[in-house]
Amino acid sequence: MRRIFPILLAGFLLAALPSSCSAPSRGEEVSFTAMDTAMTGRFYGKDAKQAAEAYQQEIADLEQLWSKTISSSDVSRLNQSGSLKKEALDPRTVSLLRRSMEISELTGGSFDPVLGRLVSLWGIGTEQEQVPEADELVSASKESGAEHLSEKDGSFTLSGNAQLDLGGISKGAATDEIRQSLSGLSLDGYLLSLGGNIYVSGEKPDQSEWKIGISDPDGESAYLGYLSVSDCAVITSGDYERFFVRDGIRYHHILDRATGSPAQSGLRSVTVVSKDAALADALSTALFVVGAEKGLAFCGQQPDAEAVFVTDDGFVYLTDGLKECFTLTEEARYTIKDGEK
Ligand code: ADP
Ligand code: MG
Repeated sequence: MRRIFPILLAGFLLAALPSSCSAPSRGEEVSFTAMDTAMTGRFYGKDAKQAAEAYQQEIADLEQLWSKTISSSDVSRLNQSGSLKKEALDPRTVSLLRRSMEISELTGGSFDPVLGRLVSLWGIGTEQEQVPEADELVSASKESGAEHLSEKDGSFTLSGNAQLDLGGISKGAATDEIRQSLSGLSLDGYLLSLGGNIYVSGEKPDQSEWKIGISDPDGESAYLGYLSVSDCAVITSGDYERFFVRDGIRYHHILDRATGSPAQSGLRSVTVVSKDAALADALSTALFVVGAEKGLAFCGQQPDAEAVFVTDDGFVYLTDGLKECFTLTEEARYTIKDGEK
């Protein structure tokens, strides 16, 4: 959680900036910690208070289903038993598992929901963080990959010792679930921020734009630029979010199953914009693994995925759909590069 707060702050403060000529209602705000992350929400409209309560409650429910550290969660029970009937799982978990397998296939395995062995071995963000031995990496890599998860004869099954890790998609999937619950309420607009995984919907009372900050990976500023968007998720994965440094090398939390180690794709962060928050979350992780060149080509083929890539040599690449919506503020240290990488 080291750098999650600044992203959240940047996103939330920018999004919350009032217009200069009016004093809009501040709406209903809520802040809490869940899923190991600081979460906030802001809601405008008749049912704003009810929406804020529903948001917090639904996150708490989903955490009980999807947390790897709660032993009674659906994810933990599947990891412990290796196979569970569909009826033994909450329908929201069934959807999440199917979605995870689908996006893994879409990304050629760069998004890997069955990375549990490797994630535990590295222990990044835990007291047990370590650089594993090469043979340990080989065996944990063999037990990773979505091909180890199947849905057959009404059951979900993990083969061998494979373990689920849905950390790369669950906050996005939670956003989609919450949006569905909010759809029955009378709201003019809202912003959800699940640890920097943002969704903006509708309008603020003064009709000013939602502005979502893109975190500065170096941390010299809170953000390097911002996106002016609405009715979409804006979700970032970066190498500065969870990491440890050993012998001068930064080991971060986004793993490349091909090597078993933190991805080295020349990127500091990827931000994905999509109406589909689960897709945006999973893709931000997957595109970080593949890098800017393949990532730009991939997004070009997708009907609902735009992205901002920030490279380790100070360049910012944008997909066509974001060129009009992005404003670079850290112009001295970052340069927008056009076209193909
Ligand atoms: P965060 O959830 O910290 O905002 P991400 O959405 O990028 O960041 O997800 C990173 C998490 O996803 C890791 O902590 C790990 O649990 C899991 N993960 C790491 N690498 C991958 C990968 N290649 N595919 C799917 N999940 C991954
Ligand atoms: Mg993700």
